[in-house]
Amino acid sequence: MRHARSVTVIGGGVVGLSTAYALIRQGHAVRLVEQLSEVGQGASFANGGQLSYRYVAPLADAGVPRQALAWMMRPGAPVSLRLRADRDQWRWLLSFLAACRAGTNRAHAHRLLDIALLAQRVLAAWRAEGLEEFCWRRPGKMIVHRTAATLAHAARGITQPDAQSVLTAAECVAREPALETLRGALAGGIFTEGEEVADCHLFCRALLARLVASPDFTHVRGVATLEAAPDNRCAVRIDGQAGPQTDLIVVAAGLRTRALLRAVGEDIPLYGLKGYSLTLPVRAGGTPDISVTDYDNRVVYARLGERFRIAAMVDIGADDDGASPRRIAQLRRLAQASFPNAGPYDDAEAWAGFRPATPTGLPVVGHTGRANLMVNAGQGALGFTLAPACATLLALLAGGEAAGAPVP
Ligand SMILES: Cc1cc2nc3c(=O)[nH]c(=O)nc-3n(C[C@H](O)[C@H](O)[C@H](O)COP(=O)(O)OP(=O)(O)OC[C@H]3O[C@@H](n4cnc5c(N)ncnc54)[C@H](O)[C@@H]3O)c2cc1C
Repeated sequence: MRHARSVTVIGGGVVGLSTAYALIRQGHAVRLVEQLSEVGQGASFANGGQLSYRYVAPLADAGVPRQALAWMMRPGAPVSLRLRADRDQWRWLLSFLAACRAGTNRAHAHRLLDIALLAQRVLAAWRAEGLEEFCWRRPGKMIVHRTAATLAHAARGITQPDAQSVLTAAECVAREPALETLRGALAGGIFTEGEEVADCHLFCRALLARLVASPDFTHVRGVATLEAAPDNRCAVRIDGQAGPQTDLIVVAAGLRTRALLRAVGEDIPLYGLKGYSLTLPVRAGGTPDISVTDYDNRVVYARLGERFRIAAMVDIGADDDGASPRRIAQLRRLAQASFPNAGPYDDAEAWAGFRPATPTGLPVVGHTGRANLMVNAGQGALGFTLAPACATLLALLAGGEAAGAPVP
């Protein structure tokens, strides 16, 4: 049975806003607390723009530790690791290593695929009811491989032969002419129909625009903190002040979720995996229309309206949160070598963000040990893709429904 409730959602990134929207759709009243003056300024700001529903396997897999070691020896590799005297980093890395098994990866990938396919259906429903203007397209995704070995491995891993096809280098170029410059370097690619792209920051703004139109929604600017309250509950303070309390609190504060929960004795294993992006104006004929992933360099490319987004790299234990000039220069070189005519690289906007990642790659969605406290976090590299589904599952749980209940 569903009960309408008042809910405080902490965090105005793609996960918090999606949560607020799913809760409002289910008849709850929502107060969203965001510390910054604008929504979608954290990890949701300039991410890769991929709604990558069928490529959701977690990073933790058999063979990854060995590959990561090889990458660590190579400057400019897609993954870098800097070990720190940081208990959270070590705990996360040890749990990550424990998850690096083929069977664990398969089980988690199945779970993530279910969530991702739900996300695609939920987003379609949200779009049908008027959520728009976030550069959404469904161009399909091409993962290009530079070696026959990785292409053959990927071809063996195809799970949906109806939607996925293995292409030669010439067929890749025929489907996406902007790949012409890579023709000689490619072994081939896998094309997947139905994959989507969109601008996550614009999506956040579109969600907010829909939310503020609801009489059941309030947007509060301030820094939220949690404190313990009687009867195994907790209370929210905003900028240190006690405010009106709601039936339920949902923490969807991205990477900050871990610290917020700790204040009331809850612990989730979140760690920030730093990544980078470049955004440049598109140039007709040079920018790929299809969403492209360069598998060997782990770079994703998406045309978002009149802009071209390039995203890559996982830095574990990064020094700071800035867009490191060294990593940005590496990314620019890689992109320029692949798509030299895509746009004016010198004018590209550089950005860095932290993927709020769990060691297993599975998000944390649901109730906590506190009676009135829920969490929606840890979507890692797939936060934009999974947000509508995680939000919907959380809203069902918040209304007292089982997670397996039919999704509206
Ligand atoms: C380089 C890069 C590329 C990526 N590419 C993709 C992609 O192509 N596809 C995809 O699906 N995902 C991608 N991701 C992942 C995705 O961007 C993240 O998973 C997602 O943005 C996380 O959203 P979030 O709402 O949890 O966190 P955030 O967007 O960080 O939002 C958290 C919000 O909470 C607020 N907040 C924190 N603490 C408080 C507090 N105490 N009080 C009030 N407010 C608070 C913050 O200000 C922030 O606005 C990428 C990430 C990176 C870094």
